[in-house]
Amino acid sequence: MDEFALIERFFASRVADRADIRLGIGDDAAVTRCDSDTELVIATDTIVEGTHFLPGTSAHAIGHRCLAVNLSDLAAMGAEPRWCTLSLTMPDVDPDWVDAFANGFFALAERYGVALIGGDTVRGSLAVTVTVHGCVAPGAAIRRGGARAGDLIYVTGVPGQAAAGLRVLRGPTAGIAADAVEKFTYPEPRVAEGLGLRGLATAMIDVSDGLAVDTTRLLAASELGATLELGKLPLDAVGADDALALALTGGDDYELCFCIPPECEAELVRRSAGWACQVTRIGATRPEREITWLWEGRPCDAGGAGFEHFPARP
Ligand code: ADP
Ligand code: MG
Repeated sequence: MDEFALIERFFASRVADRADIRLGIGDDAAVTRCDSDTELVIATDTIVEGTHFLPGTSAHAIGHRCLAVNLSDLAAMGAEPRWCTLSLTMPDVDPDWVDAFANGFFALAERYGVALIGGDTVRGSLAVTVTVHGCVAPGAAIRRGGARAGDLIYVTGVPGQAAAGLRVLRGPTAGIAADAVEKFTYPEPRVAEGLGLRGLATAMIDVSDGLAVDTTRLLAASELGATLELGKLPLDAVGADDALALALTGGDDYELCFCIPPECEAELVRRSAGWACQVTRIGATRPEREITWLWEGRPCDAGGAGFEHFPARP
């Protein structure tokens, strides 16, 4: 099967027929139509075999993952997903593999109304780059840097669970629940939750490299410090002896960490009632730029720097 037949069979034939897509796959570029009073929010992420997923991962799960990690970035901005492109680098063309990949990709794309409008298909070591485009009302994107002193800090879901699932995939482990493997293999981007936080969250980040480093990034962008109570995290659901370390530095959670003004707590409770995941208050920001991690009221070391692709050498 040549490149054009492959693109036609697995991708072009599945492009949504939508008024906001003037020109989809097949020309030199795609053309989309934006509403006059919206801002475009754009994110891109690459996943590479051996770095972001284990060799032998199913094509369906890779198709899901390449889009999920990108939708997570849009979710963290409070943006509504609209269009995406897909650059697929693979060692050879196995139609069954591409079929399963496309099924994983489109199952998630259809769930969140994001249309594939173009891409690239080349030979090489297995890697996938997706670029997503979403929309927000003017000025409404939720940045990392908007928190104010005294804001409450929350995290969605069960941080650390994905890292526990990865551990199970790497070798025999006891005590970790099967849903942890599902959580690592099929991360669910918190798109509905991110949209639900519009007009409420003052700052937000998606937790992809571990709660410690990503919370620190949000606080740094907001030029604030915080007091965080780690005992509040839902660690029992992680199921590992070192659940706290996995939550803080494990990565791959694709949860949302966000801040709200204290007077908005009741509104958050109201809005989050219908969410698919739990939400946990883990602390509050403060004006001095110091982060204090507490465990049952006592200072502790949040340790580690989270996942780092190019760690500094000593
Ligand atoms: P060009 O040489 O102009 O870059 P390509 O041959 O790379 O064109 O692609 C032809 C068309 O197919 C373009 O519209 C491109 O966006 C689309 N395309 C290529 N690969 C993919 C893919 N993996 N997924 C979706 N669209 C793709
Ligand atoms: Mg091309």
